[in-house]
Amino acid sequence: MSTFLGLPTAPRGVGHLRETEPFPVAARTALADTQLRRNLAKATATIRAKRARVVAELPDWEELRAAGQAIKARTLAGLDGYLEQLETAVSARGGVVHWARDATEANALVAGLVQAAGAREVVKVKSMVTDEIGLNDALAAEGIAAWETDLAELIVQLGHDRPSHILVPAIHRNRAEIRDIFLREMGDVDPDLTDDPAALAEAARRHLRRMFLSASVGISGANFAVAETGTVCVVESEGNGRMCVTLPKTLITVMGIEKVIPAWADLGVFLQLLPRSSTGERMNPYTSMWTGVTPGDGPREFHLVLLDNGRTAALADPVGRDALHCIRCSACLNVCPVYERTGGHAYGSVYPGPIGAVLSPQLTGVQDNASLPYASSLCGACYDVCPVKINIPSLLVHLRARHVEETSRMAPEAITMAAASWVLTRPGRLAAAQRASRAGRLLGRGGRISSLPPPLAAWTRARDAPVPPRQAFRQWWQQTHGSGS
Ligand code: SF4
Repeated sequence: MSTFLGLPTAPRGVGHLRETEPFPVAARTALADTQLRRNLAKATATIRAKRARVVAELPDWEELRAAGQAIKARTLAGLDGYLEQLETAVSARGGVVHWARDATEANALVAGLVQAAGAREVVKVKSMVTDEIGLNDALAAEGIAAWETDLAELIVQLGHDRPSHILVPAIHRNRAEIRDIFLREMGDVDPDLTDDPAALAEAARRHLRRMFLSASVGISGANFAVAETGTVCVVESEGNGRMCVTLPKTLITVMGIEKVIPAWADLGVFLQLLPRSSTGERMNPYTSMWTGVTPGDGPREFHLVLLDNGRTAALADPVGRDALHCIRCSACLNVCPVYERTGGHAYGSVYPGPIGAVLSPQLTGVQDNASLPYASSLCGACYDVCPVKINIPSLLVHLRARHVEETSRMAPEAITMAAASWVLTRPGRLAAAQRASRAGRLLGRGGRISSLPPPLAAWTRARDAPVPPRQAFRQWWQQTHGSGS
């Protein structure tokens, strides 16, 4: 077992990342859902167009992308040092830093902190990393209710559903479906609620306000944390996050260790890249930043949980580690022709779309997500839009190669190649095989064989095989040139 900052690291993450069924099976079900495909096509086309408009406004967009890529590469190269610097800075400003090797440790830490605060319910800012570790379920098991306050996360939670997009978790729902969920699940909703977006937002606002005012613990993720100052940053569009990180007495932030950035000046690069790539806005409506605790202002206690959960294992792969550069903007999902047709649920992982296809196999192991690196046409659209220039198609090919290597002993291709090698290394065996193969002519029709028996049946399920010739090349050569030639 390796160590990280003196802690033994779990080789792979655990949590809610594992596939329930392989992508090809789940995708087939999703493709049959016409309403889902209509919702996805409309939503992704709208976000794509918005992003393209605001990105085109910046003449130095490519330079910004290169700067973002360089900062992330530098951060990962010195990650342990930057994390220690962050811990020192947060502690100096009155915060408490905790280290969690995996989801189990992180969930136990957070549950313990909530219990220590004497709370039975918490309000949450939308956060991918708490989804990754299954925090809500872990808190529920301890008798603690976790209320999502982001509108889309609230829709997913009330609908007893799963998020299907990094940024727009309820992208698979339309207005009428959302109204029905609110009418069914919100005890305090107006029974005449319409599906007008403003009316739906107002209903959610009233529902959430009571929770904001009563909860004594807030839980957030983090978009960035600045090592040199100890400042944690969360960006969002609705203001619910600002309420969660300022109103409760205790604030707990769970953060993947790759979210640290070295310096305050680096934040300026990402605060330009992220909103344009994610919501298609010039800047995020709400950018909340806090450094430790400030007496008389905001939470009285601040806990920062730094989570590994497979990240150091991903870091050990010099090619695959680029996936840790991701700033979770979701631009790659919105341009992906596969995601646009299947939606996020088919990926079976908290991180869907192209980034999920490269991140999830690395966090929980290639074998556990074996089908995800194949869930791509390798068209390259994701690479073109990624604000930190992650070459996702190359990573997908790399992970496919790793998967083949890890399964090569059992793969049909490997067995076939071993058999071919056995036959081709002895002339007598080759001659016997050629005689046997001519029996295959009995299966042919019109020069093609459309159905071979097992174990070769898989080949003809997708294509025809040619009928073996009447005469092998070696026989023809002997007849026309003599055996000594
Ligand atoms: S891989 Fe790039 S485009 Fe996709 S979510 Fe991450 S940062 Fe955004």
